[in-house]
Amino acid sequence: MVPAAGRRYGFFTDTTVCIGCKACEVACKEWNAVPDHLGGFTGHSYDNTGELGANAWRHVAFVEQPVSPTVGLEWFDQPPDVAVQGAIDPSGEVGQPPGTGTEGDVGGIRLLMSSDVCKHCTSAACVEVCPTGALFYTEFDSVVVQDDICNGCGYCVTACPFGVIERRESDGGAHKCTLCYDRLKSGTQPACAQSCPTDSIQFGPLDELIERAENRLARVSEYEPKAQLYGRDEEGVAGTGALFLLLDDPEHYRLPPDPVTPTRNLGQMWRWAGIAAAALATGVLASVGAGGAGGR
Ligand code: SF4
Ligand code: SF4
Repeated sequence: MVPAAGRRYGFFTDTTVCIGCKACEVACKEWNAVPDHLGGFTGHSYDNTGELGANAWRHVAFVEQPVSPTVGLEWFDQPPDVAVQGAIDPSGEVGQPPGTGTEGDVGGIRLLMSSDVCKHCTSAACVEVCPTGALFYTEFDSVVVQDDICNGCGYCVTACPFGVIERRESDGGAHKCTLCYDRLKSGTQPACAQSCPTDSIQFGPLDELIERAENRLARVSEYEPKAQLYGRDEEGVAGTGALFLLLDDPEHYRLPPDPVTPTRNLGQMWRWAGIAAAALATGVLASVGAGGAGGR
């Protein structure tokens, strides 16, 4: 599939088949010459990348969830296309959706793995606040930073509701995923999607990805009651170009449940400010008028 200018493209990340191999992180770094960074282990999970940032355009999150006593092996009797990661401890304490996990003492947790990335928002806060025009929407409706125009002010860093974009210490500029803009222009898919061995990361026209994601959600929901799509209905950013099929609420994956572009309510704020100023002026004029009339 050769990306065509004028059509919107994006990612569908099916976290249920991510195996945490980090091939996507490596491919991204290699193709985009993103500098090394070693976050070290947090002590809370096997995640040693930590978070997205100037030197981590992909971040494979390892979310460890405590689980309840097993309900058996029926999960693994399901067709391969609905299989998910799962591990269960009979002595676990916290609730677990039925059908997930395997019997035996294998740690009392299940690992939710998800490769996070820039959401390429429809209404991108980073673009809206950038004073130099360094951030822009491409002909594929992705969001890209032009390094030679970025002045390093950092407005985009504070505006992004997902905590994606960050200034790089070595050059002072803001950096993030470009949806491999150079590869798209030359008719190739992004490096992360190409390298993913399980097709957890899928690239394509956004309308097709939404349809694919909805079909997959319907299938997975039969076994995972909390399965949900993230990124399609996020009204605060007018939707995104990066969809995620999650097995639990977005907070568990450190994704904001209700992301909002900070500039979204600017027009309304100015309207209210105008009304307040008019009311104040009216009050002042009225009191001056009343004072003048009393003095005569
Ligand atoms: S606002 Fe954040 S998530 Fe949205 S396009 Fe900009 S950097 Fe990406
Ligand atoms: S390459 Fe695919 S399977 Fe491996 S960590 Fe990334 S998303 Fe998961």
